[in-house]
This record gives sequence, C-alpha cells and structure tokens, in this order.
Amino acid sequence: MREVQTFRGPVAAGDLGTTLVHEHVFVGHPELDQNLPHPEWSEEAAIEGAVAGLERLWELGIHTVVDLTVLGLGRDVARVARVAERTRVQLIASTGYYTADVLPAYFQTHGPGRLVGGPDPLVGLFLRDIEEGIAGTGVRAGMLKVVTDRPGLTADVRRVMEAAATAHRRTGVPITTHTHAPSRNGRDQLALLRGLGVAPDRLVIGHCGDSEDLDYLRELMDAGATIGMDRFGMEHVLPDDRRVATVLALLSEGYAERMVLSHDAAFFSRVTPPSWRAAHVPHWHMENISRRIVPRLLEGGATQAQLHQLMVTNPARLLTPSVR
Ligand SMILES: [Zn+2]
Repeated sequence: MREVQTFRGPVAAGDLGTTLVHEHVFVGHPELDQNLPHPEWSEEAAIEGAVAGLERLWELGIHTVVDLTVLGLGRDVARVARVAERTRVQLIASTGYYTADVLPAYFQTHGPGRLVGGPDPLVGLFLRDIEEGIAGTGVRAGMLKVVTDRPGLTADVRRVMEAAATAHRRTGVPITTHTHAPSRNGRDQLALLRGLGVAPDRLVIGHCGDSEDLDYLRELMDAGATIGMDRFGMEHVLPDDRRVATVLALLSEGYAERMVLSHDAAFFSRVTPPSWRAAHVPHWHMENISRRIVPRLLEGGATQAQLHQLMVTNPARLLTPSVR
C-alpha cells in the first residue's frame, strides 16, 4: 500500500509534495469551549482564517499539512473537514491521545481487568480511526501520536504507547511523538516502542528541535529514528537562529535522511491564543519555514537537495504505511 490517507481520500505518497509533518489546525477543549468560551474564538472566522492561511501556504509551495490534533487537544475532524474541502492543501488527520500523565476516568474503568472491563478502548479507537474513519466523517487517520512530557513514562502514557504500537503493527501507520526535550525522553520512547515491535524508522521523535544536545539527537538518529525539528517560530522556547544552527550542524554531518521540519503552529489554539502569539511570537505560524527558515538554511550552506530530502522525501517515506 503506497497510498496515504488524507481528508480527501487516498493520495499516492509521491503526490504529497512539500509537507509540514507537525501542525495543528484548531486546538481546543470541548468542555471548556462549551462552558468557558474563549473570547477570541469564532468558528466561522476561524474556518475562514484557516482556509486563507492554507491557501497562502499552497502559494508558498506547501502542498500537504499533517494535523496532529489528537484526542486531548480538542480534535474535531468534522470541523477541520469544512476547511479541507475549501483548500488545495492536502490535510492529513491523526489519531492518538495527548496526555502527559493520566487518562480520563472513563479509561480507568474500561479495559482488561478494570471495573467495567472489556477490551482497551484506546486500541479500538485508534484502529477504527485508521481503518474506517474518524467519528463518522469517513476521514481516515494517517499518523499516530503519543506524548511523553516532564512526568515521563507514567502508567497511562505507557498504555497510550502500547495501544499506538498495536495499531501501528496492524496498519503500518507511522508513529510521531511529543517529547520534553530537556528531559531527553525521546530515548525512553524509542526504547519502549522498539520493545513493542515498532521499527525505529517508522517513528518520528518530535520536538527534537527544542534541543541543542547534538549527542542526544545523533543517538536517536543513529538508532534509525527520524527527529522532528518541528517548532520553528516557538521562540519563547528556543530562538530560530539556534534551531537553524542545529539543523545545519546535523546536515553537515550527513543526517539529512533523519530529520523533518515543521512548526507545531495552529490557526487557533486556546492554549496560546492569537493575540498572545501576535504579541510575543510573531513568527510562530505555518509560513515561517518557507519565508524565513529555508533562506537561512540555504545561506548557512544547506543545499536544495537536502531541503527536498527534509521536506518532501522524508515525509513521504514516513507517511507511507508499512511495518518492518
Ligand atoms: Zn503539536
């Protein structure tokens, strides 16, 4: 199967083009959105803004965007579908669960050996999202996402990773991660997922661009994993010039096949709303790589062939479902 699932159905991996592998269309929180609506949120305005933003990306040459908004981040695929049907950019949906520590109470009572029992609902959810479609939309997930943050591999974080590994082994859909770079916990993810039968080259260890520890980054790539240099514009975490320097250093050492570029940006997130982003991190948006980062990489000695590898070849290889 060389096809990749998008909001508009299957696409040949070779037709994905320049791809941003770690972005968010809308990050919300359904219960808060209902009870404590965000003053900057308007669904219609947000949809118009996202369509316009994606069309600008298309003009810049970005033809595919992976939306890594999974459960825990307010995933609403029906809402994103209203955006997808109006833009030329191919959007890819994802499945997984975003939790740094504990899952909601429902998951504590459901699953083997638990109060209500039954099979682990996470496994059923991930498989249904990938094989049949998400929440009745018919849109199938093209990527799995798991999270390890400051608390490390808690019992529930492990449980999400086990369910994701099961879904990966069955479907070949790649796994991408959120890490807390200062903890260097991509190592723990790699070890755990490997032990669960996930080949390192089917894995993107995300948020590695937050790290400047080249030994740590080399270790992940030497093991076969791809690292996500995926937060360009998040200058409140690390300035872009330092992110660029790390990518250039690793390119010069021959690691072009093991890195992908993205922003982890959103058209709307209630966590860091548009007014805050505009005031504090004006370059944190999905045009930053095309407009500011690619020119800096080229000035710093990167070649067009290397950029093609990072933004076209690597995403296509990763997104093509396969199990090794
Ligand atoms: Zn993200």
